[in-house]
Amino acid sequence: MPQRPYIVGNWKMNGTRAMLSEARAIDRAAQRHMKVEVAVAPPYTLIHAVHREAAQIAVGAQDCHPGQEGPHTGDISATMLADAGAKFVILGHSERRESHNESNSCVQDKARAALDAGMRVIMCCGEADKIRQSGKAEDFVIQQLRESLPAMENATENLAVAYEPIWAIGTGNSATVDDISAMHTAIRALLVELYGVEEGSEVRILYGGSVNPDNARELLGADEVGGALVGGASLTADSFMGIALAAGEIQDS
Ligand code: PEP
Repeated sequence: MPQRPYIVGNWKMNGTRAMLSEARAIDRAAQRHMKVEVAVAPPYTLIHAVHREAAQIAVGAQDCHPGQEGPHTGDISATMLADAGAKFVILGHSERRESHNESNSCVQDKARAALDAGMRVIMCCGEADKIRQSGKAEDFVIQQLRESLPAMENATENLAVAYEPIWAIGTGNSATVDDISAMHTAIRALLVELYGVEEGSEVRILYGGSVNPDNARELLGADEVGGALVGGASLTADSFMGIALAAGEIQDS
């Protein structure tokens, strides 16, 4: 991993103010692991509170609306998230693509809005089990990214991609190192094609899907893996920072 590994927690729809103690513990531990960039995306309701308390970690959101303001009941714009202290937004997560019918072009519009608001974007992609079984996983993921990534000047400065096979999310069945390496290498080639060699090579590609402290070292050691997007194991400081520790050890080795 040439750049600092990026370890991002996605708390999904978990966490009330009682979880702020975990955020504090993650922040304290992150101050002892400066070789690793640690970030957390709590639910909207906790963004400002985590932002106010965190000295080291970045706080982000799990979605945003493509518009800036207006009659969109229940939605939140990237500008509002930035105002609350969010520094990044996870976009195109499979749970949103599935349960909110988010298309690639909708995700792309959101990415443009987030980058315009000065936020970082973590663009998720990943295939369902049926697609993997059919042998078309790579084609699917590359097409999904082609249609979801924004073509904007300097987009790569604030961009990361997260490869998250749907069948690996929350199941305990992570992808194999070989599958991760193959997919991340294909994603890297696409990034270089879309953004040029220099900029396309800088974008970190995270792996997500049942990463835990026991498998992190192996999974994060796969080719072209620049970090991890972590769901379940990010909900406690102990397990989340176990993953960050593994990422730091790879840096040292
Ligand atoms: C996720 O949903 O982003 C994720 C990676 O979840 P988990 O780590 O629980 O598989």
